Amino acid sequence: MNKKRKIFIGAAWPYANGSLHLGHASALYGADVIARYYRLNGDDVLFVSGSDCHGTPIAVEAAEKGIKPSDIADKYHEEFRKTLIDRLEFSYDLYTRTDTDQHIRVVQELFLDLYEKGFLYTKVEKALYSPLLERFLPDRFVEGTCPKCGYDGARGDQCDECSALLDPIELINPKINPKILKQRDNLTKEDCRLEVRESEHFYLKLSVLQESLEDWVAETSKPWRKNARSFTKGFLKKGLHDRAITRDTDWGVPIPLPGYENKRIYVWFEAVAGYLSASKLWAENKNVPDKWKEWWCNDDALHYYVHGKDNIPFHTIIWPALLLAEGSLHKPDRIVSSEYLDLEGKQFSKSRGWAVWLPDFLEKFDPETLRYFLVTNGPESSDSNFFWTDYAQKVNGELIGTFGNLVNRALLLSSKNFPDGARFVAPLDDESERILRLAKDAFPEVGKLIGEAKFRAAFKVILDIAENGNRFIHAKAPWEKLKDEANRDQVETDLAVLVQVIRTLAVLVNPFLPETSRKIHGFLGLDIDSVHWEYPDAELLKVSSVSTLYKKIEKADIDIEIAKLGKPRA
Ligand SMILES: [Zn+2]
Repeated sequence: MNKKRKIFIGAAWPYANGSLHLGHASALYGADVIARYYRLNGDDVLFVSGSDCHGTPIAVEAAEKGIKPSDIADKYHEEFRKTLIDRLEFSYDLYTRTDTDQHIRVVQELFLDLYEKGFLYTKVEKALYSPLLERFLPDRFVEGTCPKCGYDGARGDQCDECSALLDPIELINPKINPKILKQRDNLTKEDCRLEVRESEHFYLKLSVLQESLEDWVAETSKPWRKNARSFTKGFLKKGLHDRAITRDTDWGVPIPLPGYENKRIYVWFEAVAGYLSASKLWAENKNVPDKWKEWWCNDDALHYYVHGKDNIPFHTIIWPALLLAEGSLHKPDRIVSSEYLDLEGKQFSKSRGWAVWLPDFLEKFDPETLRYFLVTNGPESSDSNFFWTDYAQKVNGELIGTFGNLVNRALLLSSKNFPDGARFVAPLDDESERILRLAKDAFPEVGKLIGEAKFRAAFKVILDIAENGNRFIHAKAPWEKLKDEANRDQVETDLAVLVQVIRTLAVLVNPFLPETSRKIHGFLGLDIDSVHWEYPDAELLKVSSVSTLYKKIEKADIDIEIAKLGKPRA
């Protein structure tokens, strides 16, 4: 056995202002596969994430509804926990949130550290101020006409029409976002007036990190997903510019220096630091407060970051830049950035009701069937699609037809004819030797593919064994042979081979389909907690109760779902 490795896995932090949909699951799922695989392999895994709770979209929505931003964050944080942990079984070592005192403290320490090392400086800039609200208005607090395309509903941070990134001060005819004023009556034009005033902000000297980031990317990026590598190289080629890391808002991490009480640290700076704060909090919760260092202050550790492609710059530019400036902590090794999952040929859209929401989906459909769909059809190396009919066909055909059927048929034949367990009583023929070798050889192969985040190829190896198993049953036809008592030893041996193959499959699918793995181990009377990533020794296994692994998806079930598309969520 190899030496135990320290594996850190950071999955992207979902933003706590709306339910998660299938696209989010497709971006995050791989992190759980990697975590489960390395744990089975005997490595020390630290797998963390949490809810991203700050930022202006939440603050704007809170103002609109007349509630506290933390009320919105609380609601979605709880929903995310239920969806990701209770239903989809993502095996985080810690799932936390960015509005805890502990996270705030870690971010402030990082801020002060970079400030003292000279990577932060202040700059006075012009910003929009509302005398009515007695505050500056950052990005989404303002709307106006886009200076690039003339669209008159542009937000202060971006124009939805032409996608241009904007600053509120650039907008033509800027006005207060009407959502902010929803809780106020009888406002005059004078009340809503905006002034240009000067506001002082902190900037990160990204420009001075250009060269060290380029060197780091050249050294590290070979095993990254291709999209991350090409995006990052293109981004660096354009040249890095210093970026404001604070803004005029009261919802976020306070600046740990006097005189900036009405300003907060930008989400893009603090949310990525969540990987570090979550690791520290995990160690504190375990009462071993320095244990996080085994992953973060260790050159031999291996760090994975798993997210969708829209998150690439935060994980390949921003977070590594902060770590380079800090100087002592482990930087990302593997970037597992998925492409987009579309829905029935179109992009997910909350406003157009074009979405399949995870809480709704998981209420009706088995989470294992979604995990299965994501590994075999997810947007691993190119954009992919979720079609309801495709989902039903794949689940009914491959997962139930190939995999589930093999498990049920073989185990039922064994328990019915050899209730005390099928033994290897006859010599193994070539076909038996071949399928057992296939099962044994799968461990290094599937393990290597998971480590390289090639999930689809890894699962193909597993399905291939199941297909071979079905062919084996068909060729051996135990139900025929059992008609003649003279064949009994041969049939018992064939079934012993199949039980061993199924036991192997139960381990191999564990990172992908944990519930399936648990069930099959239960059928075989085996303890799931004793499972390791290695070919199990063949032993006499008594098959106890066997039940169907998955429920067939009926056409009527998906017709209901297809009819909901494009309509507001119930
Ligand atoms: Zn525009």
